[in-house]
Amino acid sequence: MANSHKHSKTPKGGVHTDVHVEVSRRFVQHDQRYSVKRRAIVALLENSDRPLTITDILQRSKTVKGTKNEIAQSSLYRNLVVLEQVGAVQRVFSTDDIGRYELNEEILGHHHHMLCSVCGDMRDVVIPEQLEEKLDSALTQLAKQSGFTLDQHRLDLIGRCKKCA
Ligand SMILES: [Zn+2]
Ligand SMILES: [Zn+2]
Repeated sequence: MANSHKHSKTPKGGVHTDVHVEVSRRFVQHDQRYSVKRRAIVALLENSDRPLTITDILQRSKTVKGTKNEIAQSSLYRNLVVLEQVGAVQRVFSTDDIGRYELNEEILGHHHHMLCSVCGDMRDVVIPEQLEEKLDSALTQLAKQSGFTLDQHRLDLIGRCKKCA
């Protein structure tokens, strides 16, 4: 069957009702502590419509109510390393050299990215379910012709954002 691969068809955000439950499970598996700071980082990523740079995360952490959530840069680096190690967060790259962070696709749900080739702006794109299914079955067929078994796909939309158009 064409649908036997792991590729999730669930729209972004619709996979897990509680992201923290899923992330905390990974922390338990890796024998690491899901601290308040780490929760704050996950919450920022969860509520974003795009992958975030270190600078974005630092800025956004300041706007969260209560200074408790403010994250120092050194501690942010360390926590992101751990979040990556437990498989909660992944690093993605746009057209610039700046690393951006987002929740692991298994947690966040399947989606694509729109990248600006001028300024590097990157945002999440969810392809409507019907189109996503057509796309995936076309890619599955294409792969099959090369004797390749498709498990998942990544697809970036590259162009110019509103500001750079
Ligand atoms: Zn741009
Ligand atoms: Zn897709």
